[in-house]
Amino acid sequence: MTLRLTVDGTRWRDHLRSVLEETPGLVPVAKGNGYGLTVGSLARRAEWLGSDALAVGTYAELPEAASRFHGDLLVLTPWRPYEPTLEAALAHRVIHTVSRPADLGDLLARQPGARVVLERMTSMRRHGLSAADLWDLAGQARNRARLEGVAIHLPMGAQGANLAEARALMDDVIGAGVTTVWVSHLTAAELATLRQQYADLTIRPRVGTGLWLGDRGAFEVTAVVQDVHPIDRGDTFGYRGRTALRAGHLIIASGGTAHGLGLTAPTGAGSLKARANAAARGGLDAVGLVRSPYFLDGQQLVFAEPPHMQASMLLLPHGARVPDVGERIPLRVRYTTTTFDEIIVD
Ligand SMILES: *Cc1c(COP(=O)(O)O)cnc(C)c1O
Repeated sequence: MTLRLTVDGTRWRDHLRSVLEETPGLVPVAKGNGYGLTVGSLARRAEWLGSDALAVGTYAELPEAASRFHGDLLVLTPWRPYEPTLEAALAHRVIHTVSRPADLGDLLARQPGARVVLERMTSMRRHGLSAADLWDLAGQARNRARLEGVAIHLPMGAQGANLAEARALMDDVIGAGVTTVWVSHLTAAELATLRQQYADLTIRPRVGTGLWLGDRGAFEVTAVVQDVHPIDRGDTFGYRGRTALRAGHLIIASGGTAHGLGLTAPTGAGSLKARANAAARGGLDAVGLVRSPYFLDGQQLVFAEPPHMQASMLLLPHGARVPDVGERIPLRVRYTTTTFDEIIVD
């Protein structure tokens, strides 16, 4: 231990405020591992941003968010009869997503007058209602529930690729007599176009990645060097008794499978050319060693063997600077799959 995420607080907060300013109606999304930052800390941040609504992924995430954020809580995963009934204290703040015709009646039997958004199916084909069912359910929900709008979850899409689909869906929303639409994955230009063309609609963009992780330069991930050992050609090391093919150093650094580190470094970490250069320098890739997400002095290190539970064994080629025990070294991670031991927002 420890794998540490250090956030440049001033830079991050400036970024969050600028996204908020540029995105009218923004609904922050806090789900899963909280994009590396935890759901609880994102909920607190949404409160600080002054958001009126926060989206969580699942019902299980509600308690962590609800104690730190005091506005409305939209649950992105559609309601199903197997979900537990909400406590009264929370129920009035929660907006359920309904994506199947039968679920509306079941939900209202459980929680009369519940707040709901109706999810319309998109080309994602994950969850959602047909246009006809949306039309029908909107009528029912207006009478028996608090209808908070329609939800539309679009694919990631290429830049600008979602506009045509979004337009057709907006027509369905208007056809169903609904005036608020919660959307995802539209570009700023697409949103601007839709706002212009559907001026009567209130558009609520749900944003996670672009908000919390939109300025990666505000983040620094580091591990600590726990041990360093010189090795000679022919020495054995590791759980699997591998043999060193050349002299160098073994570095044991914090961070392993428990933190979500895998064998493969995230994409974007080094171009093909950089990798070819590394292979030419160390000859290590050529003998079946795998690039790690760890770096030393700007050079990407290779795993000596697959990451352990809480530490990783790295190979440092002969001639490279040998780090000290206790030194922190940077690494590149995928934030949505990494659990940090320590998060410092300064
Ligand atoms: C996760 C999610 C979002 C936010 O996605 P990002 O790519 O992180 O911005 C929006 N809507 C739904 C339904 C989601 O599940």
